[in-house]
Amino acid sequence: MSVPTKLYEGKAKIIYLTDDPEILLAVFKDDATAFNAQKRGTIPEKGRINNSISSKLFQFLEARGIRTHFIDTPAANQMRIRAVKILPLEVVVRNIAAGSLCQQTGLPLGTVLKMPLVDFYYKNDQLGDPLLTRDRLLLMELATPEQVDSITHLALKINDFLKELFQRCNIILVDFKLEFGLDSQQQLLLADEISPDTCRLWDMSAGDDPNLRVLDKDRFRRDLGNVEDAYQEVLKRILNEL
Ligand code: 5GP
Repeated sequence: MSVPTKLYEGKAKIIYLTDDPEILLAVFKDDATAFNAQKRGTIPEKGRINNSISSKLFQFLEARGIRTHFIDTPAANQMRIRAVKILPLEVVVRNIAAGSLCQQTGLPLGTVLKMPLVDFYYKNDQLGDPLLTRDRLLLMELATPEQVDSITHLALKINDFLKELFQRCNIILVDFKLEFGLDSQQQLLLADEISPDTCRLWDMSAGDDPNLRVLDKDRFRRDLGNVEDAYQEVLKRILNEL
């Protein structure tokens, strides 16, 4: 068998070409980075766990009418995906104040937001992924006004579905990051991954302890320990529900 051609290597995944130009193969890595790759490490089994969680969540969303790039999982750490042109945007949905929202607004950690907040960031490592306004996003032609509206609508729908699912898992969906892409027909598809790397997830059964409740990449970012256990716990609870 020929060695597959690497299309792109990111911080958490390698994307390979396949025989079909409409299909790519994503291989999830155990590598972990934070703070714009200034902090690096490995989380054992992360590739398999995040692939399993993402695959389950993409299938869950597809069943509810959200179009995603997911096709199937040929191996534990591999996902076949539809080829899309990724829009250079990080779309963050927030239900509870944490992370950069607290740093930039002074809102206390854990403040429940009256309405979900959708924030757009420019996906650009050199600039440190800056927060965008709608006007700046349009000025830079990162997406069309129609695409911004569709993405906002989709992001809020995805939030409703995921919030309800995680609630059943006894987990609070604090916030999460989405990426979208355009397929060959210019259709908008949910892309990238949805996993403890890209979400803040708080264990409802751990009480208010700000360290004990963390089931996501903040355990790695803040050196809280037991990172793999937390990721495994999220997968276990999702598999119990789906
Ligand atoms: P914050 O804006 O507080 O840094 O992040 C908000 C949410 O989006 C968190 O769940 C965080 O994990 C996710 N997020 C934001 N930017 C990135 C990124 O560049 N990579 C990953 N993996 N997640 C991100």
